[in-house]
Amino acid sequence: MNVLFVASECAPFIKTGGLADVIGAVPKALAKLGVHVRVLFPGYPAVAKLIEEGTVLQHLDALHGGSARIVYTQAEGLELLFLDAPHLFDRPGNPYLNEDGFDWPDNHRRFGGLSYVASQITIHGVKDWKPDVVHAHDWQAGLVSAYLKQANQPTPPSMITIHNIAFQGLFPESTMTELGLPDAMFHVDGLEYFKQLSFLKSGLVFSDKITTVSPTYANELMSPEFGMGLEGIIASRRDDVSGILNGIDVDVWDPSTDKHLHTNYNADSIELKARNKQELESRFGLDSNAHAPLFCVISRLTSQKGLDVLLNALPSIVSKGARLALLGTGDRDLEDAFRNMSRTYKGLLGVVIGYDEALSKLMFGGADAIIIPSRFEPCGLTQLYGLRYGTLPVVARTGGLADTVIDANNAALAAECATGFEFSPVTVESLSETLNRVCELYADSARWNTMVDRAMHHPVGWEASATSYLEHYQKLLARY
Ligand code: ADP
Repeated sequence: MNVLFVASECAPFIKTGGLADVIGAVPKALAKLGVHVRVLFPGYPAVAKLIEEGTVLQHLDALHGGSARIVYTQAEGLELLFLDAPHLFDRPGNPYLNEDGFDWPDNHRRFGGLSYVASQITIHGVKDWKPDVVHAHDWQAGLVSAYLKQANQPTPPSMITIHNIAFQGLFPESTMTELGLPDAMFHVDGLEYFKQLSFLKSGLVFSDKITTVSPTYANELMSPEFGMGLEGIIASRRDDVSGILNGIDVDVWDPSTDKHLHTNYNADSIELKARNKQELESRFGLDSNAHAPLFCVISRLTSQKGLDVLLNALPSIVSKGARLALLGTGDRDLEDAFRNMSRTYKGLLGVVIGYDEALSKLMFGGADAIIIPSRFEPCGLTQLYGLRYGTLPVVARTGGLADTVIDANNAALAAECATGFEFSPVTVESLSETLNRVCELYADSARWNTMVDRAMHHPVGWEASATSYLEHYQKLLARY
């Protein structure tokens, strides 16, 4: 079976968040099941060298104001199709924002172009390869299904995965013409979302199948609290909606081989984790304290992630002699607030503002626990990396966090199945209470070590979820 993935990010080539990790990992897991995935994504500067060395499969004379090419290559165990369109993608900044942090003004053309090209590959194939199913990811690929619908001919079936409904790709109605979409599609049962064109809604209305990245988030999305205005349409397609839990690439994220760690370790040599802790403390200028845990946070600093709540819960960490190392970037106010706090709590709170994958891995390797106080979390990956590295997750009970962490309450401790800590609601009181619980359990080193061992053996790979994706592809093909 051939499947075309369409996405705006793909690790390790270009990454701003969890979407990239997923796109870089699922195709490899599907390959083990006999599914042949090609990933179509934009030819950003980060992949210029790969494009130069790749094979040009097709030239496109006109794509939103310039010519473009589809270039094929294989790298990092993946088969890649780049949409090489320099007028759209060869620029500094990140995939969505310019260097000053503003949306690129032509994002509709950039990702509309990506979706259009994906639809053409789906319908006509490219060179001697044609997908049986097209699998779009998030709003950037949302228009694929609209273009397939517009083609008005039998096409392979389409699936869309919602990685985060907070990002919907909204643009003025006037962009419809530019994108070659007919006015007849601009209505409430089509592409219109409160007088604007919504790329994500296109995916939700016209795709044959909708998935999201955890079962709990799939249910949450049908409620006004989490659906962000799209709950009605998702609920109306309830029978076509599934939650398939994200996994992680356990070959890339492996404490026994991770070259960014000071010392490699596994569940049988967990005592070596202490050497990473020492290194982490020194990198963040933190005091040592054998009697209290070292917490970490690795996150975008946005209101979704609930880090304003953590800021106000800091006293419950430092009053116990526990320490926190935070790595993140995002909202300026939060960046400044954490920076300022690190001056107040010198030796107890260490803050690095920035995006640094190597440092993040040392943190997973060296910290005792990772705090993820998200207000909503479609799946979340850092709690899974935490489990894999024996860094116990402390998470808000929402979305995929609720699906992947078993709280160390009395029942779970007695049943010997706890893997972390959960709290709800996302308030300072509730988080503080849970941080106290973590500190108490840390003091019982036998219990703590048992939990760490259990966490490290918790299955976090892609096997089960890749099988689910395959089953859904098969069902879609059987319908056609
Ligand atoms: P989201 O996609 O909403 O940002 P996820 O938990 O799904 O959240 O994925 C975030 C990914 O980005 C993880 O791989 C995490 O380690 C990484 N990450 C987030 N912030 C940073 C940072 N400042 N430096 C390095 N890696 C980061």
